[in-house]
Amino acid sequence: MNDLKTKLHNVRRRIELALENSGRLADSVALLAVSKRHPADRIRNLHSAGQLQFGENYVQEALQKQQLLGDLDIIWHFIGPLQANKTREVAEHFHWVQSADREKLLHRLSNQRPPSLPPLNVLLQVNIDLEAQKAGARPEEVAKLAQLANHLPGLKLRGLMAIPSIQTSNPTGSSFDRMKQLFEKLRADGFELDTLSMGMSVDLESAIEAGSTMVRIGTDLLGER
Ligand SMILES: *Cc1c(COP(=O)(O)O)cnc(C)c1O
Repeated sequence: MNDLKTKLHNVRRRIELALENSGRLADSVALLAVSKRHPADRIRNLHSAGQLQFGENYVQEALQKQQLLGDLDIIWHFIGPLQANKTREVAEHFHWVQSADREKLLHRLSNQRPPSLPPLNVLLQVNIDLEAQKAGARPEEVAKLAQLANHLPGLKLRGLMAIPSIQTSNPTGSSFDRMKQLFEKLRADGFELDTLSMGMSVDLESAIEAGSTMVRIGTDLLGER
């Protein structure tokens, strides 16, 4: 429990410093705790230390933990590779999905979102470095997906997400800069977006410098997996 408090404090401090160093407003970056492969008890402890938003990568694993943690007011984000046969669970059990990257998924998520719930918050995942093995839409496909997501009744388009390659997520921040440009272009085109999700344990500083509004931290918050 104490180690989690310390880790949370340290990560929050790094975010504050990165914002200061970039001349950005305090509190303009949200912290998502990535809890894949960590047990429900550890999530419960981090939640009681003050962390509200958690991200999970695997649907079945996430549903099991959500059952054990149903008494908590956690905001759940699905951030893993999304297959069409898993969209129903995501639409029914998460508040956000960050890994939507094609039209079919957007249609399914919208259709399967229960009408009793508010629209599902959506980030479009972008394969910013065009890596063959990585999920995500190509940058030139994003505007069309954004148009669709914006019109589907079960969805609320909030922004973009990326997992840049290690080489390019070094302090030059070039992939992060290109994500920021893509994000600002969409906003200039009239999309009301407020979330640019990028930055993990090793590179949150350069992501924040480039304009990230949400960092996704696993290892430095919850330990090695
Ligand atoms: C695992 C994961 C993270 C967290 O990575 P760490 O290096 O442990 O901070 C962030 N985003 C996604 C999409 C992940 O799968």
